[in-house]
Amino acid sequence: MTADNSPSITKSDRYDIVIAGGGMVGVSLACALAKVDVDKKLSILLVDNFPVQRLGSNDASQGPTYHPSFDARSTALSQASIDIYESLGILPELLKHASPIRQVHVSEHGHAGSTLLDASEQQGARCTKEQVESFGYVIENQWLGAVLLDHLIALPTVEFLTSARVCNITPKQAGVSVDVVDEGVGESVAESTTVDASLLIVADGAKSSLRDSLGITSSVTHYDQRAVIANVQTQLPHNGQAFERFVDDGAVAFLPLIDLPDSKNRSALIWTMPKCKDGDKDKAQVDDQAFITAVQQAFGYRLGEIQRIGKRQSYPLALSVADEVVRNHIVIMGNAAHSLHPVAAQGFNLSLRDVAVLVERISEAMQKDEDISALALLERYAESQLKDQDLTIGFSHHLIKLFGQQAFPVQAGRSLGLLALDLLRPAKKQFSDRASGIAGRRSLQ
Ligand SMILES: Cc1cc2nc3c(=O)[nH]c(=O)nc-3n(C[C@H](O)[C@H](O)[C@H](O)COP(=O)(O)OP(=O)(O)OC[C@H]3O[C@@H](n4cnc5c(N)ncnc54)[C@H](O)[C@@H]3O)c2cc1C
Repeated sequence: MTADNSPSITKSDRYDIVIAGGGMVGVSLACALAKVDVDKKLSILLVDNFPVQRLGSNDASQGPTYHPSFDARSTALSQASIDIYESLGILPELLKHASPIRQVHVSEHGHAGSTLLDASEQQGARCTKEQVESFGYVIENQWLGAVLLDHLIALPTVEFLTSARVCNITPKQAGVSVDVVDEGVGESVAESTTVDASLLIVADGAKSSLRDSLGITSSVTHYDQRAVIANVQTQLPHNGQAFERFVDDGAVAFLPLIDLPDSKNRSALIWTMPKCKDGDKDKAQVDDQAFITAVQQAFGYRLGEIQRIGKRQSYPLALSVADEVVRNHIVIMGNAAHSLHPVAAQGFNLSLRDVAVLVERISEAMQKDEDISALALLERYAESQLKDQDLTIGFSHHLIKLFGQQAFPVQAGRSLGLLALDLLRPAKKQFSDRASGIAGRRSLQ
């Protein structure tokens, strides 16, 4: 019961950790925290404002359930991310519907030079019994969500509240208090409960209203681009090959997806293109056949003809980096901390490495019976992630800058760069290490 005797929407009014945002990052973090909490001492409240239906593994066949994080996109998970999910014990389930990326073909429309990055050339590439030699795996967000949520709801120390919103962060002496507002269903009146937390994790996405409410600013670079995504079925099998093809005004990527019983040779298309200006004909808003023709013109016929295309969705793109990520008893994580252009498929992988390191710091503090929300601990975490974040953000950003320029010397240099990349093993290895998140993983060691 709350102070005015109305029933509380949470089971308790005090938690060790409150996670605001149950997207890919918030849910992964809750699972990772529960894993290191061997003695089940931590109380965790995870709140998401979306009405997540039970996306249990057995229910996945009932068709897609929209969720802003676990939506129609696919995510290329780096080996470092695969390692993290392996440590959570959910890898075998995840890999049931995931395609390995064995090779990445990088090319540029209308120019000589292309490069083939091969996972088998990667020194120290590892494979567990579930894995094959690969740069990582492509997994549909729906399946990632289904497996994570299935795992999450079985965790005894995590309370998961959906259709509820965290707001009104107030500093307290040994933590913070927040309001948790039940968004209500239909006509029902919204209810609100105040809870205390030693540690608040803000993981409410790129347009984080909680980060803004704390007065934490972000440095934002608008690319004036959007990503149009869809699943496609091609004439030829991808054989575990991903393609990144830079075109005059963006990039077309094909990520390999697993075969389904009624649909083979599937890839996830991510086409980054300029935002449509007012009055222009939108090339993403045409009928399926016209869109397939446009994709085929930009991408070519490396996978033969595109035979089918699924529903298209569009995402505006910007680079946004929060100017502060830790405060007393508060950590900003995921897209709320840094949101990247998807050209190099790094945003979630970077956030998952942040999750792994923060959980490691918290676990160490628990073992020593120290305060898990001490500012010194949070600052140590933030400092240790800076290098990885700077390198990963810089890599994605400069890739876009390099391939987004039309001037002849840059174009010529870029083609030579791709040729050189194919000829010069060390340069190629550096590129593929960074692209697959390996270099990021090394910086953790
Ligand atoms: C087209 C595209 C392709 C991508 N591909 C890749 C890839 O291949 N590899 C990769 O590593 N990354 C990729 N990314 C990036 C990746 O999608 C993001 O890094 C990831 O979605 C970030 O997750 P998040 O949980 O931080 O934020 P979100 O996914 O935005 O989740 C935030 C959650 O918070 C909830 N919420 C918001 N406000 C509140 C509140 N006040 N209270 C409670 N809950 C709240 C929302 O409902 C939502 O569920 C891609 C991105 C795009 C756009």
